[in-house]
Amino acid sequence: MNIHEYQAKALLKGYGAPVADGVAILSADEVEAAVGKLPGPLYVVKSQIHAGGRGKGKFKELPADAKGGVRLAKSADEVKTFVNEMLGNTLVTKQTGPAGKQVNRLYIEDGADIDRELYCSLLVDRTVGQVAFVVSTEGGMDIETVAEETPDKIVTVAIDPDTGVTASNVKTLCEALKLEGEAAKDAERLFPILYKAFVEKDMSLLEINPLIVMENGHLRVLDAKVSFDGNALFRHDDVRALRDTTEEDAKEIEASKYDLAYVALDGNIGCMVNGAGLAMATMDIIKLYGAEPANFLDVGGGASKEKVTAAFKIITADPAVKGILVNIFGGIMRCDVIAEGVIAAVKEVGLKVPLVVRLEGTNVELGKKIIDESGLNVISADDLDDAAQKIVAAVKEG
Ligand code: GDP
Ligand code: MG
Repeated sequence: MNIHEYQAKALLKGYGAPVADGVAILSADEVEAAVGKLPGPLYVVKSQIHAGGRGKGKFKELPADAKGGVRLAKSADEVKTFVNEMLGNTLVTKQTGPAGKQVNRLYIEDGADIDRELYCSLLVDRTVGQVAFVVSTEGGMDIETVAEETPDKIVTVAIDPDTGVTASNVKTLCEALKLEGEAAKDAERLFPILYKAFVEKDMSLLEINPLIVMENGHLRVLDAKVSFDGNALFRHDDVRALRDTTEEDAKEIEASKYDLAYVALDGNIGCMVNGAGLAMATMDIIKLYGAEPANFLDVGGGASKEKVTAAFKIITADPAVKGILVNIFGGIMRCDVIAEGVIAAVKEVGLKVPLVVRLEGTNVELGKKIIDESGLNVISADDLDDAAQKIVAAVKEG
């Protein structure tokens, strides 16, 4: 689960991290009060959407040379102008995809004078099974480019869960970021704070890009992106309360109601599969035959007919889907349950695109019989290879 920058900053501020004062607003009427709470004369007006790259983003409704989704304002009047230009418009960034995201909320923040922009993130490093800091002196810009072109400028420091952040860890991090004086003193406090917040709140990612050294020599968290481990949300009521479903994919929200593991993707072949590994393999083989999956979907081991019906409806409701591949290996899941679920869904919502079904395993004969006798226009397949070729061909013909 992701949250907005202003929420992430409030959370980190609660742990004692150096964060600027700021006020989130939903309408232009709130600007005056918001600006009144900040010292000025430099303000930053920041689009609150669940996507990065806002600074370099473009608003669809504004001329191509207009400023992006993060703007520096030198007066209260300029803040007002920016708010009127930005609020309600659609911001397109590298991370939103071409459709962009509507900016319904702005964060007005006290502006900082920047000396250096650094990169600092925490994540779970699965190769060592520990939480790790990933830092670089090359902050503010695209960290993926830094990783590709100058990987030596990225330093990873894994933290031993028994000790937490040690003095030696801090030293390594400070050296990697070339922090000295006041900034190094701030860092000594900040790194343990970030680690504590990450562990206590079950985060899966905490990314500060940039972490800045200000002209006065102190550190400040200038941007903050936080993702939480969905499997741990049950023990964090405070975190769950931060969820903004308007930022999430409607299909993913629907899927979460039925406890379906669903991720929306950009392709046009809808997939319904049982088992995450088989779902990944199904996506791979679709790509191998030259097409793209419209989603990842694992209906799970013991799915009911209702769950299968819901899953099928989510897939068919996506206008991008031009064909559907059902790939089931019946172990705990029975093929006849899948067949009944698919048929119930088709009866409700109709079937306007080709459907290839590959069933194997428990009750496969019964499952095939149910589909054959349903009178549905289903293309049946013998194995996964055959199924993938058939759906890719059917979509290309259509
Ligand atoms: P992102 O583009 O979505 O990553 O948004 P950021 O919050 O990282 O802001 C983008 C850029 O705006 C930063 O890298 C800074 O260069 C600039 N910026 C943001 N806040 C301030 C500020 O308080 N003062 C100054 N001078 N620049 C800022
Ligand atoms: Mg940023």
